[in-house]
Amino acid sequence: MPNYEFQCQTCRKQFQKSLPFGTKDLPPCPVCKGTTKRLISAPMVHFKGTGFYKTDSKPAPVVEKKEATKTPEAKAEPKKNQELRSKN
Ligand SMILES: [Zn+2]
Repeated sequence: MPNYEFQCQTCRKQFQKSLPFGTKDLPPCPVCKGTTKRLISAPMVHFKGTGFYKTDSKPAPVVEKKEATKTPEAKAEPKKNQELRSKN
């Protein structure tokens, strides 16, 4: 079961509780039984923000993923043939 983080809206107490997937019911505050809200403990900000490609050593690794299975030599050959064909 995933572990969620909650914060009491009454006394600001923060606590963790594991709930099954899809649970929409929020557990009451363990201190004052007040209303709680779920905190997002693992934000995925880094996916859309800058700084993901911090290393310049690998140029565009995601785009070339499909062709990565072939060797650079095998990749160059069909390109050569295409050039020859266009000349003829
Ligand atoms: Zn509370």
